[in-house]
Amino acid sequence: LIKGLDELRDLPAQTPDGFRVKLFANTGLLADISPGLLRGAEGVGLYRSEIPFMVHESFPSEEEQVQIYRKVLEAYAPRPVYMRTLDIGGDKNLPYFSFTEENPFLGWRGIRFTLDNTGIFISQIRAMLKAGRYLGNLKILLPMVSRLDEIESFRSLLQEAIGQLKEAGVEVSEPQVGAMIEVPSAMVLLEDLAEMVDFFSIGSNDFTQYMLAVDRNNAKVSDLYDWLNPAVLRSIGRVVKVAKKHGVPVSVCGEMASDPAAVLLLLGMGVEMLSLSAYNLPKTKWVIRSVSHQTAEKLWKKASRMRNEKEIRAMLNEVLDQHG
Ligand code: PEP
Ligand code: MG
Repeated sequence: LIKGLDELRDLPAQTPDGFRVKLFANTGLLADISPGLLRGAEGVGLYRSEIPFMVHESFPSEEEQVQIYRKVLEAYAPRPVYMRTLDIGGDKNLPYFSFTEENPFLGWRGIRFTLDNTGIFISQIRAMLKAGRYLGNLKILLPMVSRLDEIESFRSLLQEAIGQLKEAGVEVSEPQVGAMIEVPSAMVLLEDLAEMVDFFSIGSNDFTQYMLAVDRNNAKVSDLYDWLNPAVLRSIGRVVKVAKKHGVPVSVCGEMASDPAAVLLLLGMGVEMLSLSAYNLPKTKWVIRSVSHQTAEKLWKKASRMRNEKEIRAMLNEVLDQHG
């Protein structure tokens, strides 16, 4: 396996007919840095900044955050690192800041939480900006965006943070800012969002959960939780189309990018960036290098008209079997 990994690491993620995909790693722990590098990740497509907060005993100070973020940014420079701002709430709780809600996935999570706690938010933004100083590879990604004014509020906090740093003699440049597309309202508002942000990242785990109204962690409904569901696929297809029309780069992160059958369809839709767990990078790269883009486009055309995820999966598995 290791030999296979080494060989694959330096080969491009490109279909036999020349469609190039960028493969990024998802990270959170510092221990995740080297598995991605080892497997040839072209950057970090999703840095889950809540993970260092979760393993800490209290809110990490701004300086502690700078140290952590800089390690990730430095390890990957000049390759881009998409740092997501704090995405706690839902199933991710901080042991030192707990609150209970009846419907945590519909509650105080992601950007909703940080916009209500601007002290925490500004200090995280400042830490990211300071960590990325001189490196030029920091991009900021906003989780759980469900309203357009969340982007506006973030932009003014970002300006405030940049201003504060400047006053303290720390010159930082303004990073690109993107939105996670994981809530149906964000999908509906996509044209407006395209004018407000620099890139999109489809969080397929939450997108599937919210599009289908199926709790991603509830075993009783786990049969219903499938990103090959026609509603999920058709909406992702639409996101990719609108993003392309507006010239906004779009990536897919979340477990879908590690599912070989789903990767075939994402290729067919024209997705050019995927971000996934480092351990699954070789598998996804292998799928990309095995099936032509033309075939993937045909599969997506077929799948986009099918009415049931089981049929879709059966069709895709057949193709994967043919390719060994
Ligand atoms: C997602 O929702 O797909 C995602 C990548 O974010 P998380 O799994 O951290 O919610
Ligand atoms: Mg998510």
